[in-house]
Amino acid sequence: MKRKIMLLIGACIFTVIALTSIQGYFIYNTYQLNEKEINTAIKKQIARLEDTEEWENLNNTWAARSKEYSKQYLKGDVTKQNFIQYLSSNKDSLSAAMNTYMKKMAEPEDYDIDYSIYLNSIIVINNKKTDTLFKGKALILANDTLKKNQILSSIGRWEIQDSDTELSMIVKSERYYGFDKLQQTIISKMAGLLLFSVVLMVFVVFLYYMSLKNLITQKRIADIKTDFVNNITHEFQTPLATMDIAIKTLQRKDKQMSPEHYTNTLSMIARQNERLQKLFRQVTEASVMPIANKDIIQVTDEEIKDMIDDFKLSKPNAVIEFSCQKEAFSIPMDRFHFNTILINLLDNAVKYGADKIETDLKITDKSIILSVKDNGKGISTQEQVSIFDKFYRVEKGNIHNSKGLGLGLFYIKQLVETYSGNIRVVSAEAKGSLFIITIPV
Ligand code: ADP
Repeated sequence: MKRKIMLLIGACIFTVIALTSIQGYFIYNTYQLNEKEINTAIKKQIARLEDTEEWENLNNTWAARSKEYSKQYLKGDVTKQNFIQYLSSNKDSLSAAMNTYMKKMAEPEDYDIDYSIYLNSIIVINNKKTDTLFKGKALILANDTLKKNQILSSIGRWEIQDSDTELSMIVKSERYYGFDKLQQTIISKMAGLLLFSVVLMVFVVFLYYMSLKNLITQKRIADIKTDFVNNITHEFQTPLATMDIAIKTLQRKDKQMSPEHYTNTLSMIARQNERLQKLFRQVTEASVMPIANKDIIQVTDEEIKDMIDDFKLSKPNAVIEFSCQKEAFSIPMDRFHFNTILINLLDNAVKYGADKIETDLKITDKSIILSVKDNGKGISTQEQVSIFDKFYRVEKGNIHNSKGLGLGLFYIKQLVETYSGNIRVVSAEAKGSLFIITIPV
């Protein structure tokens, strides 16, 4: 069963990982699709920008000036350096014009892009002789939002002929656009989908968690019940078998049976009968009968001392100490309830290996604190959370080193809770245990 649960947990983890990966893959694809869609829309936006007479004029300004420079360059009136200076001095006014133009052309659904044109080269051809006026990458114009992340939108190459001379020019340029809010725009577009995916995954994980938790709890309850049936069978078997033998002895009507033997056999039956009754009481008290009325009757110091003395008589091998800071006192609790709590704790201490038990009672204005400390075998930290559960025993399955039904601490806890109190344990394996009960007054 444990292996089955482990397999199931493994399968759940695998499914969650697989589902997350598939979802991640789909989200990534959707992201890319959105990216493509936005880029296509931007390209359309640029095509609209570049398809007007105004833009044509703007673009022709520097082309015409470049032609002039080419002519002058051939005549030797200007140098390449002069041309570069022209480009850089002209850049600002062209950019300003471009900026105004873009603002004018903007439409509500447009993306907030930057736009720029770079000159790559100008080759001057005169009488079949070529000369390079410019080669490199010089900014011609850009709108004022120009950022670093630019995407190449188109490469232009065209030839300009001069009608008066033999001169012609080959101009190469590049146009760029940039949209720095691309990621942000896509993510906000996909926000709903992302949120839904996360919620769905959390829901799936939660469902798995709840189902597995339920399964483990069911399995634990089933195990505990099986253990209980085993324990009860074991517990009832001994007194029943002993009684059986004793009754058969009496039935033989043995003439030679001494009065002493007769009395012993009878008291053996009485003892086993009492044990059976005690077992029966334990089961019914804890599982069938609700905790009876908690009439606030007082328990006096004398009664408590008597309870401990009686217990001492039944366990002569154990040293049992009792202390209380008050001499004469009384506690607002039902005597039977207090007795059950105290004797069950003491009984457990002896049953689980203690030969020295220290019982202490503190009475304050606010609460009563009863502590029972033993030097027994102790309880491991993992077990401490479960020992107050119904039918829970540390010795599980068919191991029965000590008798019990796993009901004592459960019953004590129920009783303590009826008085709105609490019980806790401080213990470690082989280090003894300390049970502390706090009941508010
Ligand atoms: P039972 O004694 O019938 O098994 P309890 O409910 O009284 O049932 O105790 C539950 C379990 O807690 C026990 O099986 C035992 O292992 C552990 N336990 C209780 N008291 C002590 C103690 N004083 N020292 C060590 N273990 C204890």
